[in-house]
Amino acid sequence: MYSPRFSPMILTRPLTPSLEPIYQQFELEPVDVIHYDLSIDIDRTNETIDATAEVSFVPTEENLTDFRLYLKALTVSQVIGAASFTQDGDSLFITLPAPASTGDTLTLVIDYSGAPAEESWGGFHFHPYVTYQMGVGFITDPSMGKYMFPCHDRPSDKATFSFHITVPDTLYAVANGDSAGVTDNLNGTFTYHWNMNQPMSTYLAAISVADYAVLHDSTDSRIFYYVYSWDVDDALGSFVNTDLMLARYESVYGAYPWDCKFSFVQTPIGDMEHLSQVYHIASAINGNTNYDWLLAHEMSHHWWGNCVTEQFWTDVWLSESFATFSEAVWMETYGEDDYLDYVVNNIMKPYLYSGELFPIVEPETPAELWSNTTYEKGAAVLYMLRLIMGDTAFFNGFGTYFADHKYQTATTVDFIGHMEAEYGELDWFFDTWVYGPGYPVYDVSSSWVQQGSYWQLTLGIDQIQTADNFFTMPVEFLVEGSGTDTLITFWNDSPGQEETFLVQFEPATVVFDPYTRILSSAVLGVSEETILPQRGVSTMFLQPNPAVSSTSINWPGTSEMSMNVRVYDLSGRVVQSVSLDQYSRTLDLVNFPAGTFFVDVTVQGGIRQTARLVITGD
Ligand SMILES: [Zn+2]
Repeated sequence: MYSPRFSPMILTRPLTPSLEPIYQQFELEPVDVIHYDLSIDIDRTNETIDATAEVSFVPTEENLTDFRLYLKALTVSQVIGAASFTQDGDSLFITLPAPASTGDTLTLVIDYSGAPAEESWGGFHFHPYVTYQMGVGFITDPSMGKYMFPCHDRPSDKATFSFHITVPDTLYAVANGDSAGVTDNLNGTFTYHWNMNQPMSTYLAAISVADYAVLHDSTDSRIFYYVYSWDVDDALGSFVNTDLMLARYESVYGAYPWDCKFSFVQTPIGDMEHLSQVYHIASAINGNTNYDWLLAHEMSHHWWGNCVTEQFWTDVWLSESFATFSEAVWMETYGEDDYLDYVVNNIMKPYLYSGELFPIVEPETPAELWSNTTYEKGAAVLYMLRLIMGDTAFFNGFGTYFADHKYQTATTVDFIGHMEAEYGELDWFFDTWVYGPGYPVYDVSSSWVQQGSYWQLTLGIDQIQTADNFFTMPVEFLVEGSGTDTLITFWNDSPGQEETFLVQFEPATVVFDPYTRILSSAVLGVSEETILPQRGVSTMFLQPNPAVSSTSINWPGTSEMSMNVRVYDLSGRVVQSVSLDQYSRTLDLVNFPAGTFFVDVTVQGGIRQTARLVITGD
């Protein structure tokens, strides 16, 4: 999924997520749901739903009597097949009439209704002209199937689905999978039937209802578009490359792995890769193709995320880094220069400017889960891995990883295993780039002396990043002389390393990493103005915190820099915006109410970090 970078909604990704720890991510209930049959009547006037879920499941332990499903904000009136049930918060506790065994298939018929909930992004939305579910949230538990139906709301419990969506007969309802027809209820409503016959995670299940025009792609019969009836002309311009994207990914990743349609569905607030029906933000359907990168990102999730799914949300980079890398793979359709340009400007730089310095794996809060590290750093890691392994081994590794885990789940360890099977040991790469924080800040030197008809070139590399980790990498230097040049690869595997090389011409300049093969501070440029502090930056913090009437901003590495500070409340509203110079780092809080705020600081050069601030009343 993605909140578009080019709209104000982008701010919701780094800023509003809770800093509370990710909870309940690893806890599985002792059931394996195999099918959800959902009948949902939508009342747009009262903004409520009246629904029945038939949940078919197999116990995963013997003598099962009690387990939990999840359901948010909606009230259960009856559970046929249970001896009793209770609701507590987001939990629906079920007691079976008799102990069940792992050989049994049981079905519960759950009647429920009410006003569905939403976060700012995820959840079930009643919009003036669209009613729709967004299956992932940024703020709390990412899995939001529970906002629409009672479910075992974990990415690893995949099931097949049927949908029966009853709406006014002026509207159209789309869901996952393929259409199984429409019933005219002869009372001013239609019921739209959809079947998803291959297993998917609950966060990918969604419905959307609007006055949709249904467009069928003329060049690839698998592709549909569900767009506002008044936006058809713009849709024809904005979706002109969808068939080429599908062909591109099929050639790189293998055949589209789903037996059903692929589609884009126009919805109001952001993009989400619901299986076979990507929800695409309305404002990006504008008649041109400048959001192709976003369409490509979501389409690629149909291999990475939707088909091979992270077992736990803490491995979400297996979805989002892969989809962000796939944006560049789409750009490569236009050539190597476009691929590299995209990697540098749209992947590496946004990450470097973010100021984030935590590992890709095992994010500890939703803010870290939905971070530039998860999207852009992980994509840059895949770009570098491809260069190191070479295309054949790299894509063979992707292929066997996909083949072994499709329709199921995977972990970071699974992915690494498949890549190592193609290449050999890669601990030196993954240990620092994936399990460690940050990126290298290189301090390089070069000098040369003539030796007979050769020149002896001495190259030195030190790594001076704040984080105490060493990045072993092949590092390139382009040595340029009069009318000639040569490329030297330096295997940088120890601190303060120096190597000598003989070249056949007199060097004039030595260019470090000339083709941007490495995610490092050098990507931001080194000469014209200092963008990164020489020793890198560390984590910004506020002191005191909690605070009463003032707090000061401490950010090691930025002492010479001015900073722009914005303070947001929990709704994302800017409540204070000030510029601070290098001599005063104090934020005046006298006029603030007690509560929780986010302090977003950008220093010269664009490096940005956010910290949570708690203001107490006395
Ligand atoms: Zn995504």
